[in-house]
Amino acid sequence: MKKRVKRVVIVSVLPGEPTDGSGRVCTHLFVRDEKGLFVEGHVLRPAKDKNGNLIRGKLTASPARGRLACDPKRCFYPTTRNGVTTVTHRSDDPRAVNCPKCLASEGYAAITKNSK
Ligand SMILES: [Zn+2]
Repeated sequence: MKKRVKRVVIVSVLPGEPTDGSGRVCTHLFVRDEKGLFVEGHVLRPAKDKNGNLIRGKLTASPARGRLACDPKRCFYPTTRNGVTTVTHRSDDPRAVNCPKCLASEGYAAITKNSK
């Protein structure tokens, strides 16, 4: 008989949100930084044609080095200890971000200053 393995995943919710599964998940802002701790595999950037000209309204995705806006020393890679996996949600789209510290960060201000 196959042994059943219970898997537990910890997902952080925003401060003050209920922890019964209905609370909003905390999503951090990923900012590009050549000195960042990790490489994000799927970062959106403006698409270019074969001559290197920007294609208006089109995005493409590729890996990029960076960090979380609220904590440069924190890595998003999932960690598993004693069968409990902790994950860190993040996005490079500022519209998806709701982490209070990321929203107050210089990285967020820099990304959003030209889009408001
Ligand atoms: Zn954050």
